[in-house]
Amino acid sequence: MTSLTRRILPLLILCALGASASPAQTPAETPDTGISIPAMDPAVRPGDNFYLYANGTYVSQTKLPSDRAALGVFNTLGDLSYKQVASIIEDASKSNAPDGSDQRKIADLYKSYMDEAAIESHGLPALKPHLAEIDTIHTPRELARALGQSIRADVDALNLGQFHTANLFGLWVAPSFNDPNHYAPYLLQGGIELPNRDYYLADSGSMKEVRAKYRTHIAAMFRLAGLSDPEARAIRVLAFETAIAKQQLSLADSEDIHKANNPWHAADFTAKAPGLDWPEFFRAAGLEKQDTFIVWQPTAITGEAALVASQSIDGWKDLLAYHLIEAYASSTSKALADERFAFFGTTLSGTPQQRPRDFRAQVLVSATLGGPVGKIYAQRFFPPEAKAQVESMVANLIAAFHARLENITWMAPATKKEALTKLGTLKVSVGYPDHWRSYAAYHVSPDNLFANLWNAGLFEYHYSLSRIGQPTDRNEWCMEPQTVNAVNLPLDNSLNFPAAILQPPFFDPKAPAAHNYGAIGTIIGHEISHTFDSEGAAFDSEGRVRNWWTPEDLKHFETVTSALAAQYDTYEPFPGVHVKGKQVLGEAIADVAGLAAAFDAFHASLKGTAAPRVANFNGDQQFFIAFGQNWASVTRDAALRQQILTDPHPPGQYRALTVRNEDGWYTAFDIQPTDKLYLAPKDRVRIW
Ligand SMILES: [Zn+2]
Repeated sequence: MTSLTRRILPLLILCALGASASPAQTPAETPDTGISIPAMDPAVRPGDNFYLYANGTYVSQTKLPSDRAALGVFNTLGDLSYKQVASIIEDASKSNAPDGSDQRKIADLYKSYMDEAAIESHGLPALKPHLAEIDTIHTPRELARALGQSIRADVDALNLGQFHTANLFGLWVAPSFNDPNHYAPYLLQGGIELPNRDYYLADSGSMKEVRAKYRTHIAAMFRLAGLSDPEARAIRVLAFETAIAKQQLSLADSEDIHKANNPWHAADFTAKAPGLDWPEFFRAAGLEKQDTFIVWQPTAITGEAALVASQSIDGWKDLLAYHLIEAYASSTSKALADERFAFFGTTLSGTPQQRPRDFRAQVLVSATLGGPVGKIYAQRFFPPEAKAQVESMVANLIAAFHARLENITWMAPATKKEALTKLGTLKVSVGYPDHWRSYAAYHVSPDNLFANLWNAGLFEYHYSLSRIGQPTDRNEWCMEPQTVNAVNLPLDNSLNFPAAILQPPFFDPKAPAAHNYGAIGTIIGHEISHTFDSEGAAFDSEGRVRNWWTPEDLKHFETVTSALAAQYDTYEPFPGVHVKGKQVLGEAIADVAGLAAAFDAFHASLKGTAAPRVANFNGDQQFFIAFGQNWASVTRDAALRQQILTDPHPPGQYRALTVRNEDGWYTAFDIQPTDKLYLAPKDRVRIW
């Protein structure tokens, strides 16, 4: 099965585990040396536990704050990025920039979030007219209009893996599956507030408890927004969302792109999904001129459209009102915002406390004005020399993969040819996009957060609408430069590496090449390898959905990689609890491939010269230590157990051990058959 969220770098997972670290406690890099010597534990033999050899002191000396599930270099970098964003906002606030300028928008949006008195006095009055409008719905046509007007561009099925929207459906505009040179509208299921259908349908005691608390929460939201009969409405809304959840596809099915390519003509919707006044719906959504849509989950769209006819209009009005109240809670009143956090933050995610208000304001500004903030961020924190240096690393990595693909013998010639073509046309964007989107149409008020959020949703939606039918821009970005992450855009055959991840300890323009190739080089290699592995096989070199692997290629790949799954199966973080080799296989393969290619690229970059020594470590040793230090983390047992159960990424402590598959590691550290991590040459896994 192709799980597309696997395409995104492990960071997403680490980000999800917990947010921040005290920078003093991280394996702080010493300037110009690259690898962190103080983080290491020289008492551990590298051949026995390479992870602890590289990170032992960091692991033993890092104390987890009580509100964190895990800490690692990714979290620390996330904190640094928000500090950098905070400085951008601070300067914008002091600049007194002219109306309509990006600086002014940044300053005003921040101010509107921080001005709690203004929210308290303007918030509810701003919400009321929208609630009143819902109250005027009396006919199926008016209902279809309201549903169409509520649609936003708030989902992203392939790049970011965002499948959730509380609106009836979600719109995603992206290169078409069937004509990747043009943007097409994708229609996705929606309609529920809880994260996915399982929360409504699972029979477990814990989920039943969540649902009981959820019903209480819905009633509280209705009450705080001033609506009558909150308890009765809450019962109806929960029943309604449960009916919608029954129509929805599971997350695993939604992630299967082979089920998603369903082009429907606009004229077909009424026959294929009766119940909704589709022409009125499309008109209200601004989609009346669109001839074809790609329907991601057809049975869900059909099922949800049927509910439009079968459920009472009053039921729909409750649902629309409730979703509106939730969506704008943070901008309506403190009572609503706190109630929302108490349920979604504490009950659902176990976070006892909200991050400080100024931090949340930074998150909001960074997300809503992503382009304007990103433009300043790139100018200020990512110099052209750093960009040029990473781009030359990327070129060396691609050359290394090219040579490796040329030399493999197990792929059918046609498959190999397509893999090479795909690698040749892969667009790797470093730091920030080539051109910046205009935010001129987004108006920001310094004292009306509700309007700012409302306008932001419409601004993004109208931008998406304007791209439908336009030629694809393969240089496009789907992440902001200030985001600590990396992403694969399979329909564009491109990768984005934002500036924020290209900072120490992953990348330092002043550090030796050995460190940079071992740290960020292996991550870039990991992402590149996904484009032509069994996951990337779903998309050809032009971004078309087409399986270009032969069954024999796949069979061989599975045989070779099953040895790697078996290797991971042996890891046992708790007595009797093993890593699930099959579950983490896709990521483990990419780690092996990324490490091997980065090692080649590092050597190529030396052009025959010797790498400078650091603290008596030669270049190869620094390379592998830097790789091991990527995975430094301290994780609570419960979080680690959950990761082992649910995550496609292996725990960091085992990712670092994949050095044992690389011949160069044995030479670098003089590893002997008596060492615990030793593998005989025939048992080392080589894939590309
Ligand atoms: Zn990956």
